[in-house]
Amino acid sequence: MSPASGTDREPSALPVLVLVDADSDARERISIALGRRFGADYQVQVGGNALEGFALLERLAKEGARVALIAADLALSHEEGGISFLERAHVLHPHASRVLLVAMDRRGTRIPFSALAALRRATALNRIDFWVVKGGFSPEEWLYLRVQEALSAWTRLHGPHHEVLRVVGEQWSPRSHWLRETLSRNTVPFGFYPADSERGRELIQAHGVDVTRLPAVILHDGSVIHEPTAFHIAQALGVQTKPSSQVNDLVIVGAGPAGLAAALYGASEGLRTIVVEERAIGGQAGTSSMIRNYLGFPRGVSGADLVFRAWEQTLLFGAEFVFAQRAIGLGSRNDLHSLMLSNGDEVLGRAVVLAFGVEYRRLGVPSLEQWTGAGLFYGAAGTEAPALAGEPVCVIGGANSAGQAALHLSQFASHVTLIVRGAALEAGMSSYLVAQIRATSNIEVRLRTRVAEGHGTERLAALELEDADGRRGTIPTTAVFAMIGAQARTEWLGPAIRRDEDGFVLTGRDLPSDARTGVQPPLPFETSVPGVFAVGDVRRGSIKRIAEAVGEGSVAVGSVHQHLARSHQSVLHQDSPHGP
Ligand SMILES: Cc1cc2nc3c(=O)[nH]c(=O)nc-3n(C[C@H](O)[C@H](O)[C@H](O)COP(=O)(O)OP(=O)(O)OC[C@H]3O[C@@H](n4cnc5c(N)ncnc54)[C@H](O)[C@@H]3O)c2cc1C
Repeated sequence: MSPASGTDREPSALPVLVLVDADSDARERISIALGRRFGADYQVQVGGNALEGFALLERLAKEGARVALIAADLALSHEEGGISFLERAHVLHPHASRVLLVAMDRRGTRIPFSALAALRRATALNRIDFWVVKGGFSPEEWLYLRVQEALSAWTRLHGPHHEVLRVVGEQWSPRSHWLRETLSRNTVPFGFYPADSERGRELIQAHGVDVTRLPAVILHDGSVIHEPTAFHIAQALGVQTKPSSQVNDLVIVGAGPAGLAAALYGASEGLRTIVVEERAIGGQAGTSSMIRNYLGFPRGVSGADLVFRAWEQTLLFGAEFVFAQRAIGLGSRNDLHSLMLSNGDEVLGRAVVLAFGVEYRRLGVPSLEQWTGAGLFYGAAGTEAPALAGEPVCVIGGANSAGQAALHLSQFASHVTLIVRGAALEAGMSSYLVAQIRATSNIEVRLRTRVAEGHGTERLAALELEDADGRRGTIPTTAVFAMIGAQARTEWLGPAIRRDEDGFVLTGRDLPSDARTGVQPPLPFETSVPGVFAVGDVRRGSIKRIAEAVGEGSVAVGSVHQHLARSHQSVLHQDSPHGP
């Protein structure tokens, strides 16, 4: 074992990168390369086999060192391969990124089939976070990018980071939860300081925070916004909250994957495009901890990463975004569609794409609902997970989003109980997630079970569960994440936009023949009002997947072009002296 780090700061205070590889040449090359590139911020420590590597990890755990990354070679030694080594290492250092190093075949052209099969299995069972194919000529080609990605992911969750805003509030109040989630989903770097912590008290005193009006946001210039709304924060950060005055070709409601795709294709094809978003870029997709089924990302991609790339791309093509405003009404004015916004602004457009997704269904258990935002959370677990380290938590739901939340939480919580009404996980969840859940030792699945009550005095402390035979039992829990399906929030659209009995918007061929206000047959994704389209989760018949939302948002722009051409022709027709 030898340290291979070159740093001028106190080395023992730095987080550690651990490399375990039995091939001494490879070990030396990789550790030198890692030290050269990352040595100023991390210590690099190496082990020559599984035994040595594990002793090193045990020592680091005893010393309380922060291990950011553990890289192990797939063919580590005869006794133990890299995958099972990383699995054992994870128990000692649950927050470290697990990176598997895979050697090329002898010709140096491809990964051997046996290694590929092992990789597939390790990825499917969530035993590794990243993998790297060893051996390109320069570490720039094969090593640095992957290690950097792993370290960025680790730093986002566990490392110190830049704070644009400081928030002081009660850790478990619904308003604090809402604020933390809104800031994280919009990737605003912030620090949260509980009002009863030492640092919280210091901030309160230094900035004259009124403790009766928490949470409070302290801005970079030291000024304070008490009990802020999304609108206040957006304005303080200089984010656009008002539409520019022009008439638009295309108005999009919602900046989830469907809205972003429509904005990208609309703006890139020369349409003046504006997007109105109430809460955060990326919609539900932005809350997904790891998306593995989106084309082009063999190692998976975090929802936040995917949607922020899409947003940047859309901005570069010239789409305009208006944030922290909710669309509350749709009508028409001067032959244009008119969208009313929550603070009284109006946006005009020749065509409208409705891409505002769905909302979580509520549990409706009063003794539990009273903890909403303070122990009961609707939706993904991203923001709250680190605060739940070592605590028992529950996830309710049997679909992919619940499975992902359980896996994400299992990295922090002592125990995760996944509560599912159905008789089998396979009924609602992709098989890769089912396999990962079964392979995760601190996730317990309770099938054919429902939540009957929530118990607690100052905080949620326990859940009372009831199985299909009516037997009840209580389990301790600090937090509950509910993902029990979604409902469309489409009442604000008014009767002209036809919906099904559950509120989902009818489009194209799904529209009954008497539903159209125009004479032409509906275009693909067109609603009962000509020129208004609906895509993604809010559309009746959508399959609630990111790829589908992106596909529909892109394709609908083709229909928008056809609609604009139709209306142009009808204007010409009306203006023509030869017209009827
Ligand atoms: C935790 C989680 C994990 C998931 N993981 C996966 C996965 O791994 N793979 C996969 O394929 N799918 C996954 N999904 C499903 C996927 O995210 C959705 O199918 C997809 O995001 C739908 O896209 P959308 O654009 O139609 O709607 P949404 O993503 O819901 O976006 C709608 C947007 O509209 C905004 N909005 C709503 N009403 C208004 C209004 N009146 N005015 C202005 N704005 C409004 C909302 O704030 C939101 O930003 C996951 C979902 C969740 C919740």
